Amino acid sequence: MALFDTHCHLDFAALQPHKETIKVSLETGVERFMVPTTTRSSWSLVKNLAQQYPQNIFYALGLHPYFLSDEVPTLDLQTLSEQLNKKTRQVVAVGECGLDAMISVSQEVQERVFVAQIGLALEHHLPIVLHSRKTHHRILQLLKQHHFNLGGVLHGFTGSEQQARQFIDMGFKIGVGGSITYPRANKTRTAIAALPIDALVLETDAPDMPLNGFQGQPNTPARLPIVLTTLADLRGDEPSMLEQQLWQNSLSLFHLRK
Ligand SMILES: [Zn+2]
Repeated sequence: MALFDTHCHLDFAALQPHKETIKVSLETGVERFMVPTTTRSSWSLVKNLAQQYPQNIFYALGLHPYFLSDEVPTLDLQTLSEQLNKKTRQVVAVGECGLDAMISVSQEVQERVFVAQIGLALEHHLPIVLHSRKTHHRILQLLKQHHFNLGGVLHGFTGSEQQARQFIDMGFKIGVGGSITYPRANKTRTAIAALPIDALVLETDAPDMPLNGFQGQPNTPARLPIVLTTLADLRGDEPSMLEQQLWQNSLSLFHLRK
């Protein structure tokens, strides 16, 4: 089994000791991890971790809306640009970035920081790892306004089939995570079952987004096989075929050749 966790925060404290988390995940068949970053201080942490696992860990550089304050972090954006200028082959995207309507950070600051990162992704020819909570419509508007055409992934997708298809039409993959393990997530489950198979990738968002049955514990990439089998059941796809297709989708998302 070879699975690609396209979104897990391996650097977060809840996943310590990191070596153990990675070892256990590798043993369950999760061979690759894409670690999105969230703040300036996470960039070097994740870089160090990635250097220890050159075959397994890839990462994205970005500023997550959740950790912003009341001002546009001009210096952080400048440093982000410098980091991207000297990126190595393990840097495969810009993110995680986007908008979040459920937090107190002003919409204006969020949008300015997001738009700056759209610009950096364009400049460096990289896909974007999108965070969107109740902001799908606005994110699509901003991507279009700035002629963003390099795709990426809408991570931790919840929503309707129609919403997902708008992102797919813009070249984005849909990140399928633990939310499909909850029977009450009807809309999302129905949407994901109906989407084209080549538009989907797997993720855990570990240590967040616990799977059904594991509430109250930190999530881990080692649970990715459960997301795969749930997805296969939902879609009526053969698991090993689905696994292979999702692996290919993940490579293509991050422009990896193998
Ligand atoms: Zn995340």
